[in-house]
Amino acid sequence: EAKRLGGNSYRFFDPELQQRNNERTRLANGLRHALEKEQMQVHYQPKFSALTGEMVGVEALMRWCFDDSGMIAPSVFIPLAEECGLIIEFGSWIFNRACMEIKALNDEKLALGILSVSVNVSPKQLKVEGFDKLIGKVLEQCEIPPAHVQIELTESLIMEDPEASIEMLSIIRSYGVSIAVDDFGTGYSSLSYLRRLPIDTLKIDVSFVREIGKDAESEAIIKGIIALAHSLGLETVAEGVETREQVAFLQQHGCSLLQGYYFSKPVDIEALYQFSRDYTPMNCKPDSRELKGG
Ligand code: C2E
Ligand code: MG
Ligand code: MG
Ligand code: MG
Repeated sequence: EAKRLGGNSYRFFDPELQQRNNERTRLANGLRHALEKEQMQVHYQPKFSALTGEMVGVEALMRWCFDDSGMIAPSVFIPLAEECGLIIEFGSWIFNRACMEIKALNDEKLALGILSVSVNVSPKQLKVEGFDKLIGKVLEQCEIPPAHVQIELTESLIMEDPEASIEMLSIIRSYGVSIAVDDFGTGYSSLSYLRRLPIDTLKIDVSFVREIGKDAESEAIIKGIIALAHSLGLETVAEGVETREQVAFLQQHGCSLLQGYYFSKPVDIEALYQFSRDYTPMNCKPDSRELKGG
């Protein structure tokens, strides 16, 4: 038996695995105290109109500064928070904080127009009884017009339980909050459901955007998503836009909004204020970005 299992029979004593488990436990323990220790932050990544270059909104992205481990990426701590059941608490926290901060920024009436704020919502949150009421309560407390708020969900989440998702999303949308499907094109969305979903926006996944100018099939998929969105009356946002060439392609094919390092990385609230103060539509116009050398 031992012979047949070969090297695998030693897996329980694998020091590397042991170390990985220890690290996981350390992070999970740290995560439990992250909010009370004020280690969580919100960064904001601007979104721009592909047509006018105007900055129209921001996406809120969670950041964790863990003791002396520095900044831990959401790709590491979000799945862990989901497993530990902490995502519900984190989700409420970021929704509240992001609405408060963007409402305050909008109230300052800086050079730019009103910004909308979108917040990522995890599958676990949507399934919590009363999630709709929680959203309603935060909107009221923050006194932010619901029309300035969007939530982002992945299509795989929606497809897990389409009927329940449709019901919950319809209620939230009836408040005036808009709904975006994040990472669109990477999950197994059913096009017939797409027609029935109470949604406003499709976010084209970075994996397609990255291939612009390199892979004709990815370009065809992007064009297809934009055409589909147009005919369903949905807005499109391209995520992960990094190059001038990608900007040109997306503008040419009628994508509504652009987001990515080409324009700005996610920044903290102070930097967002600074960005907004310096802002004029001209200097952010996609066409004129290269003149700034930013
Ligand atoms: P997402 O919602 O699809 O967010 C886009 C990710 O792409 C962000 O990574 C952003 O920093 C990154 N990004 C933006 N522009 C570019 C670019 O030009 N190039 C490249 N290479 N990347 C770019 P981030 O902040 O690490 O977040 C990763 C994921 O973690 C998010 O993907 C989202 O699914 C999740 N996440 C972040 N914050 C939250 C949160 O508060 N709640 C939940 N449930 N999930 C969150
Ligand atoms: Mg997102
Ligand atoms: Mg995304
Ligand atoms: Mg993504």
